[in-house]
Amino acid sequence: MDFFPVFMRLKNDNCLVVGGGKVASRKVVLLAKAGARVLVVAPALCEELASMAAGGRIDHEARIFEDSDIDGKALVIAATDDQAVNSRVSQLARDRHVPVNVVDQPELCSFIMPSTIDRSPVQIAVSTGGSSPVLARLLRARLESYIPSAYGRLAKLAESFRDRVKRRFSTTDQRRQFWEGVMQGEVAELLFAGRDELARTVLEKAIEEADDNPRPIGEVYLVGAGPGDPDLLTFRALRLMQMADVVVYDRLVAPPILDFARRDAEQIYVGKERDNHALSQENINQLLVRLAKEGKRVVRLKGGDPFIFGRGGEEIETLMDNGVTFQVVPGITAASGCATYSGIPLTHRDYAQSVVFVTGHLQDGSVDLNWKALAHPGQTIVFYMGLHGVGILSSELINHGLAASTPVALVQQGTTQNQRVIISTLESLEQTVNREQVKPPTIIIVGDVVELHEKLHWFEPAPGADTRPFGGKAHV
Ligand code: SAH
Repeated sequence: MDFFPVFMRLKNDNCLVVGGGKVASRKVVLLAKAGARVLVVAPALCEELASMAAGGRIDHEARIFEDSDIDGKALVIAATDDQAVNSRVSQLARDRHVPVNVVDQPELCSFIMPSTIDRSPVQIAVSTGGSSPVLARLLRARLESYIPSAYGRLAKLAESFRDRVKRRFSTTDQRRQFWEGVMQGEVAELLFAGRDELARTVLEKAIEEADDNPRPIGEVYLVGAGPGDPDLLTFRALRLMQMADVVVYDRLVAPPILDFARRDAEQIYVGKERDNHALSQENINQLLVRLAKEGKRVVRLKGGDPFIFGRGGEEIETLMDNGVTFQVVPGITAASGCATYSGIPLTHRDYAQSVVFVTGHLQDGSVDLNWKALAHPGQTIVFYMGLHGVGILSSELINHGLAASTPVALVQQGTTQNQRVIISTLESLEQTVNREQVKPPTIIIVGDVVELHEKLHWFEPAPGADTRPFGGKAHV
């Protein structure tokens, strides 16, 4: 982060704008909106500024800038086309620790101004740290279109009831829950529909009738977080993550995904690395029950899809036995994500008519798979957790009839900015894994569809992108 985002109170503070053109005028209007007392120093004024000055809304001194203009100012903006004046203003202001902005010259600024969406008192500010004002404006336009103007009125309504709600509910948790109900429920809907009076009445009633000591009802959301790329989260996953009080996650949840959780939500890491389980499955199940019974809304985040090699079934069984309510949200499973991001269609009219997802996790080094059914021409096999048994997997498939030359793809950390795709064949698979030092999480795709990778691969990790490895957060 190159800039620290803040909103400044400038009501009745003296501010200086150097320059009297259109650009200066836009800044003056904003400053005036924030209640600042604005002095414009410029030999001449554009029409809008002239009319503001004539109406007494700003002060104007018709001359060039003097050093002493900065004295006693809370904030300074330079918007002249004279480079020397702009630099001088910037230098003097910074020497005196007065915040200064020089329009379109980030190197001369101690603060920059964001693109804003004004739903006063709600203000949304977008900044690209000065790197692309156009992008900031595009983002702003996008946000504009889906933040109803009524949000300003909703915030005002909340403000006028703030003290009453504070008196009514003694803990911050109770208050937060109450307000979440208001902001997402009938009151907000009424307000959006323009029925402000009724919204007020309903809100008053809700405060009166609220249970003095509501027992918060805990819930568990078993959420598939997908294979790594945060863009692959579902809308529902995102919504629940932003609502949850606690996020329980394991090693396969990519760090950029955790960034979407509510800022103040508790994050609990529960393992599991091969042979190094931070918490046993039984303990995880019990933890979820305990948190829900404490009234917490818990997101149990799982890599990929919770119902595909995710032990999601076991977790909800325990919840059900303990009377805890829950929801399950599917996610994009690793097979699907990794195949797509490596340009390998899992089925293809010419190469494969079926696909099977298999666990390659070998109990005690022995394998209990129906190799005969797997080693089928025209079938793609995707092995999850197969890395430690590649030797056995490949020899069994060859022994059961697949050609030794059958192509195999290893996709490591698929869909993330660390994705590696390594192509091999059944007979050289073990060697490849050792030579390339392939690490989990890796999925293994076996079948003729792998040939398509060469032609269809499209995903390139972006330079400078987020490459934090899996399982990188603080552990419990
Ligand atoms: N529920 C998960 C699978 C959990 S089993 C899902 O639906 O995807 C764990 C295995 O999934 C890993 O050993 C690896 O084989 C695979 N896997 C998960 N995420 C992966 C990723 N980003 N890249 C490659 N393989 C991944």
